[in-house]
Amino acid sequence: CGIVGILGQGPVAPSLVEALKRLEYRGYDSAGIATLENGRLERLRAEGKLKNLAQKLASHPLSGTSGIGHTRWATHGKPTENNAHPHASDKVALVHNGIIENFRELRAELKAKGHVFSTDTDSEVVAHLVSEAMREGLKPVDAVAASLPRLRGAFALAFLFEDEPDLLIGARRGSPLAVGFGTEEEPGIYLGSDALALAPFTDTITYLEDGDSVVLTRSRATFFDAGNQIVERRKIKTQAGA
Ligand code: GLU
Repeated sequence: CGIVGILGQGPVAPSLVEALKRLEYRGYDSAGIATLENGRLERLRAEGKLKNLAQKLASHPLSGTSGIGHTRWATHGKPTENNAHPHASDKVALVHNGIIENFRELRAELKAKGHVFSTDTDSEVVAHLVSEAMREGLKPVDAVAASLPRLRGAFALAFLFEDEPDLLIGARRGSPLAVGFGTEEEPGIYLGSDALALAPFTDTITYLEDGDSVVLTRSRATFFDAGNQIVERRKIKTQAGA
């Protein structure tokens, strides 16, 4: 199972699939991507191998320049297309690796507030939690910051927002997550489960420390620690090799 996210210059869908291929070694049962198409979140998901997702993409090309992708190893909910990530609610789409242990309590709370759930996963609750915080008036960055402390369990998360073509948010607790920095020739900023996933695009990586979150725009990465304080995290050169 793995996570990728890209803020690019051209269409990111092919690169999302390429990065997911490099995470295949972790095992998975389904896959999906979401991109921002003319200000709208569009998702493509498929059961089984990435080949199935790539086929769908060939007949339904996506041209968005920001996106997220996921390979899923189901823990809650069967490995169907509908349970495949990304999950979405209102103006937010997300991918998640790990387990949200308190998803039943959170789901009950959000259902009582009128949220309608469309999958059997534990992960979907995070999309509704963030969209509820946005409905209550918080900006995306603050909505994620307010939601993360409510989650119990292990996660790597990547968020994409409908009205924010220059924003990706990542967060990790337990599961690994890295930021990759594009080059002058090929500008872009990347999120990935490991350096291997990002090796086609960059050899300059910052690993999130446990509990960190990161706010990405095309021009900068701002890291926050578990207490939501801005922190410096070191860039390293990887040897992962493309
Ligand atoms: N628990 C989530 C699910 O079952 C994520 C699984 C994963 O790590 O891929 O959808």
